[in-house]
Amino acid sequence: MSSAAPATVSAPATVSAPTPASAARPASGRETGADVLVVGAGLAGLHVATRLARQGHDVLLVDRRTTLAGAIRTTGIFVRKTLDDFPLPERHLGPPIRRMLLYPPSLSRPVALVSDRDEFRVGDMAGLYDTSAAVAAEAGVRLALGTRYAGRHGGTYHLIGREGPYRVRARYVVGADGAGSSVARDLGLDRNRHLLVGAEEVFPVAPNGEPPTFHCVLDPRVAPGYLAWAVNDGEHAHVGVAGYADRFPDGLRRAMERFSAHAPGLDGVRRPDTVERRGGPIPVGGVLRRIGCADGLLVGDAAGAVSPLTAGGLDPCLRLSDLAAQVLDDALRSGAPDALTHYSGASLRSSFRGRLALRTGLAHIRTPAATTAAFTLLRTPPGRAAAARILFGDRSFPGQPVPEPSLATG
Ligand SMILES: Cc1cc2nc3c(=O)[nH]c(=O)nc-3n(C[C@H](O)[C@H](O)[C@H](O)COP(=O)(O)OP(=O)(O)OC[C@H]3O[C@@H](n4cnc5c(N)ncnc54)[C@H](O)[C@@H]3O)c2cc1C
Repeated sequence: MSSAAPATVSAPATVSAPTPASAARPASGRETGADVLVVGAGLAGLHVATRLARQGHDVLLVDRRTTLAGAIRTTGIFVRKTLDDFPLPERHLGPPIRRMLLYPPSLSRPVALVSDRDEFRVGDMAGLYDTSAAVAAEAGVRLALGTRYAGRHGGTYHLIGREGPYRVRARYVVGADGAGSSVARDLGLDRNRHLLVGAEEVFPVAPNGEPPTFHCVLDPRVAPGYLAWAVNDGEHAHVGVAGYADRFPDGLRRAMERFSAHAPGLDGVRRPDTVERRGGPIPVGGVLRRIGCADGLLVGDAAGAVSPLTAGGLDPCLRLSDLAAQVLDDALRSGAPDALTHYSGASLRSSFRGRLALRTGLAHIRTPAATTAAFTLLRTPPGRAAAARILFGDRSFPGQPVPEPSLATG
C-alpha cells in the first residue's frame, strides 16, 4: 500500500458516532455560514469535505439520509488501484478476490480470468461511511444528517433539516449529491443523461470451499447493455443486475428475481429470507464537461465520474474529490473570481474515449445470440487478454492522489 494518499476513511482506528446534526445547526436564527457547503455525504462528499476541513476551511456537509449506514446504493467493490493508493481501513474490507468468471447467457463454460494479484475487495460500506463520517467530524467538518438541500438564491442555499428549514451563506457549494444532482441543476452545470439502473441483494454467507470469486453474466435478458453479477467472497454474497432501464424485458425487479433464482457461484449457499436490497442509477456517459463555475463544482456521480465501461465509480469519486479539494483550497486562499474555471471535465473526458467506445459497443449487443457470438472471441487468447486488461487493468480515473503526509492512518 502506498503512503501517498490517505483516504478520508483511513482514520481513526475506532469508529465513533458521527457528529450529531445539532452540531451543524445554525447557532442563532435560521441562517448560518460556511466557506464551503457540501451537499451529499456519499464517499465523494465525505472525502472532499474532510480534505477541505484539514486545509483549515469551515465546511458544512449535509445529507438527506438520517444514517449513512442506511440506503446504501453500491456493491462496494474496490479495485486494486484504489486499494493501492487509498489506505482504506482493513477491518472494513472483505477478503481479496483474484478470480473472475465470465458467463454467456447459457451460464455454461465460463471464461475464467485468474490474476496473480489481489484485484478486488468488497467494502463493508456501512462501516466505511460511518468511519468516514467520524474522520470528517474529527477534521472539523460540521455534518448535518437528515438535512435536504432544497435550492439556491445567489450565494444563499436552502436546507430543510430535522428542525425545519434554514439558510446557509457559503462562498462555494459542492454538488456531491449523486447521479441526479440538484446542485448541478441550480448551478447551471452539465447533468447526467446516459444512465444505467442497477439493483442487488446482499446477504452473509459461510465459505463454500470455492476461492473468493466475482461471477459476471452477460445476458441482455437480465442485464441489457451491462452485466449481472454474483460476488461471493466467502463472507458476503452480492447478487445484482444492471442495464438500461427501458430495455429490461419485464422490468428491473423481475430481472433481479429471475437472476437471483439462478445466479452462479452460490452452490451450497443458503439465501436468507430477509436480504439487504440496494440499487440506484449509474451514470455511464463519462465525466461531464461543465462541472465547475464561479460558485461551485461537482464531484462523484454528480460529475459523471464513473467508468463508462465497468460502471465503477468509487475510484473516480475519490480521485476527482482530491482534485476538487485542491482547486477549492486554491480558490479560497487566492480569492480569485475565476479560480474554479479550470476545474473542467472536458480535458478529463479525453481519457475516456476508448472506454466510451467500448460502452457503445456493449450497448449494441442486444440479443443472447449476439452475446454468445461475442464469447467466441472472448475465448481466444487475444480476447481473454483484452478482457483481463479491462477488468484487471492498472488504468483508473485520470489524476493521481494528492499526497497529504500529515494524516494518521487507521
Ligand atoms: C447498484 C450499484 C452498484 C454499484 N457497485 C459499484 C461497485 O461495486 N464499485 C464501484 O466502484 N462503483 C459501484 N457503483 C457506482 C458507485 O457506487 C458510485 O459511483 C459512487 O458510490 C458514487 O458516490 P457519490 O458520493 O458520488 O454518490 P452517492 O453515494 O450516490 O452519494 C450521494 C449522496 O447525496 C445525498 N443527496 C442526494 N440529494 C440530496 C439532497 N437534495 N440533499 C441532501 N443530500 C442529498 C444522498 O443521500 C447520498 O448520500 C455502483 C452503483 C450502483 C447503483
